[in-house]
Amino acid sequence: MAPRFQAPRGTRDLLPGDLERWQWAEAQARGVLERYGYREIRTPLFEDFELFARTSGETSDVVQKEMYRFKDLGERELALRPEFTAGVMRAYLEHGLGGRARVHRLWSAGPVFRYGRPQKGRYRQFSQLNCELVGSAAPGADIEMIALFVDVYEAWGFHGLTVVLNSLGQPATRRAYGERLREWLAPVHDRLSADSQQRLVANPLRVLDTKDEGDLALLRERGAMPRLLDQLDADDRAHWDAVLAGLEAVGIAYEIDHGLVRGLDYYTRTAFEVHDRSLGAQSALGGGGRYDGLVEELGGSPTPGVGFAIGFDRAMLVLEQRGAALPPAPPGVFVAAMEGTREEAMALTRALRRVLPADLDLEARSFGAQMKAAGKSGARLLVIVGEEEWPRGEVVVKDLAAGVQETIPRVGLAEALRARLAQAPPPRPGGATEAEKR
Ligand code: AMP
Repeated sequence: MAPRFQAPRGTRDLLPGDLERWQWAEAQARGVLERYGYREIRTPLFEDFELFARTSGETSDVVQKEMYRFKDLGERELALRPEFTAGVMRAYLEHGLGGRARVHRLWSAGPVFRYGRPQKGRYRQFSQLNCELVGSAAPGADIEMIALFVDVYEAWGFHGLTVVLNSLGQPATRRAYGERLREWLAPVHDRLSADSQQRLVANPLRVLDTKDEGDLALLRERGAMPRLLDQLDADDRAHWDAVLAGLEAVGIAYEIDHGLVRGLDYYTRTAFEVHDRSLGAQSALGGGGRYDGLVEELGGSPTPGVGFAIGFDRAMLVLEQRGAALPPAPPGVFVAAMEGTREEAMALTRALRRVLPADLDLEARSFGAQMKAAGKSGARLLVIVGEEEWPRGEVVVKDLAAGVQETIPRVGLAEALRARLAQAPPPRPGGATEAEKR
């Protein structure tokens, strides 16, 4: 019988077995972030709807079609966060972080929510790792951000990533470019999808984000597209050249994508993305860019910033597809009791669990059943709390991989077990170890 309740459409349960990979990835990313000097910031899962509307742009898809927007019981207009940057920058202003240090390097990770059409690699609740470098307009900040992005992926075992990038210039550049796009598309205007026709009025750059096959064919038909890079002013051009030179200096492969405009309104200058084609339609592993106008948009003084968001779900999908092996669970012990030592075994297990992974049978089953459970548990060592040994201050320890057994003192037991767990399993006399057979 089908269960009565299922996870809401577009959401997923991450079960033990899946989660170990996520936890490993989070730990790897944390290591990279620490070495780069980034510090964690946690902001609420929901914010004022208006915060997202202002920063992402009223005409963005995220605001128009994808927001989990709701009124709470106090009639407040709220929304589940569709991205991190707006909330992080709201917090930056609210707590006056700008007055505490010139540059802040911040990261966050957790769920974000977008009401899109679910498909492989696209969910309504998904997870992002988000980084921001606030307070520096220098090209060095863009370069650091892109290097950090790539290094997180390298820590996850991805190699040979190519970053695609473009420069969006200033709002005035984009307005001028929008005009050129309109002129360029005028001859095919009536054949564009209704969505793209609307975008051409409200926010022409968004036409380049279209996924509509007919629109894409028309874009190809029009041939050489006007380029944002040709519209840059001298300062933006110098910034762009310095970013490219910096990427070359630090050894990051890039390609220029003149059609890359990103989905949100607050980007200025550098915009970048990284794709993995094995993911099919939803191929973006992450992206980011500069948002020098965002803090002012929120009522703060002009403050430059650059950031990125990595989609955890897609990165984990690629790792799974590649069959990337998970690091093995740390080896542990199984404590087996005899009829007269059940309580002692429970107390011993609790003490051992302070320092190492330890399991036991909860159901007072026979010694034979405990042996079976120990075998299945994946424990490396079996600790038998024997009725004769325990009063003498000893226990029996059996190495399940090597099949050898010894009696050792209870005093210092945890340390003795730890030392044995740290060693490679000794060869089994006259045969292969379990590990070798596999
Ligand atoms: P964006 O802010 O849209 O560039 O998103 C950054 C990254 O988050 C993307 O490159 C994806 O990896 C991931 N992402 C965005 N939307 C979704 C979604 N609906 N489901 C899963 N991952 C997503």
